[in-house]
Amino acid sequence: MRDSFIKDMELSMGLLTDYGYSGASVPGVGAITDGVIPARITEMRRDLYKAICQYGEVPAVITGTFQYEVECRHDYPAVGDFVLLKYNANGPSGITKVLPRISQFSRADFSGHEEAYVKNVVEQVVATNFDYVFILCSLNFNFNPNRIARYLTASRRSGGAPVVLLTKADLCVDLERVSRVDTIRRVAPDTPVLPVSCVTGLGLDALATYLSPAKTAVLLGSSGVGKSSLLNTLAGKNIMEVKAIREEDSKGRHTTTHRQMVRLPGGALIIDTPGMRELGLWDADEGVNALFSNIEELALQCRFSDCLHGSEPGCAVKAALDNGSLSEAQWKHYLTFKKESAFVESKSASLQHKKEWQKHIARFNRKKHAGRQVD
Ligand code: GDP
Ligand code: ZN
Repeated sequence: MRDSFIKDMELSMGLLTDYGYSGASVPGVGAITDGVIPARITEMRRDLYKAICQYGEVPAVITGTFQYEVECRHDYPAVGDFVLLKYNANGPSGITKVLPRISQFSRADFSGHEEAYVKNVVEQVVATNFDYVFILCSLNFNFNPNRIARYLTASRRSGGAPVVLLTKADLCVDLERVSRVDTIRRVAPDTPVLPVSCVTGLGLDALATYLSPAKTAVLLGSSGVGKSSLLNTLAGKNIMEVKAIREEDSKGRHTTTHRQMVRLPGGALIIDTPGMRELGLWDADEGVNALFSNIEELALQCRFSDCLHGSEPGCAVKAALDNGSLSEAQWKHYLTFKKESAFVESKSASLQHKKEWQKHIARFNRKKHAGRQVD
């Protein structure tokens, strides 16, 4: 029994080593007991997780004991976490412990709500245990050194090593590319800055330095900079394999489209979570207008100032779509971006509300502890 347990542990450690686990650097593994195995969280949707373990990728939930013991949301599992799992072959396995993290991004990193007492309520960790932060910024129309500088600061705080990827290099003439890359190298003198293109393949070889087996990178960058394209390009072979398997077992091909932690054919791991995408939008102050100025200008020319750009007469956006001067792709992207921004703004408002509320509670507690009468 004990021997088979140890064999199981070795097997599971081997598999998890492929997923970036290095037991030696993580204290607490000695506490692993029978029936509990190490695993890594690959996906999180509300309260349901997916974790990779010796039995493959399995559904998981946090156990009641875990819920009782953790003190704040910060301690809940996030994508990238190494956890201990009480394996259940017949249903979701139970997450009993989150192992110490080497790096992490949380929503609070970008919301600016850093006070400890606020953290307890609003901080939500969205990605952990990455070695590198790939900061993506387009060399094209939304080239923005200030945004990169902000991402760099957040990356350094996260514990991961930043690497700046200047995307869509194919859309930039040589001279301009050289000068923009130089600008960023001045902003980030100690950070690798690589121009890349998913269209021509430029710069992708240089990424191999970072994408070595079992290393984890997280993607950070605003909507439209090319995160999905980069992930697809890097994982291309893998996606094709998934398709082939689906064809054989005739389960249909569209079941798994969005994976949050992806293992590349070469063995590196990429985290691309919707949570990180929202981080990218915390700087929505620059927002839609700067990114899509051509569309905003078109909208000003619509006959009606409240034009919804559907079937209204005299709609300049529709005319531009019809005559091809505005691409369907950019229009769709704009609509998605608008929707995401509205979502983030409504979240900001609710964070602000929580912050006020939390301040109120803190004031209450301070007065109580000071032994004074609470008014
Ligand atoms: P995401 O929102 O960050 O995931 O960005 P996407 O990967 O969806 O890319 C947004 C748009 O940029 C799409 O229309 C892509 O085809 C385009 N794109 C992405 N990478 C490149 C690139 O290297 N070169 C060019 N020319 N276009 C790109
Ligand atoms: Zn219109």
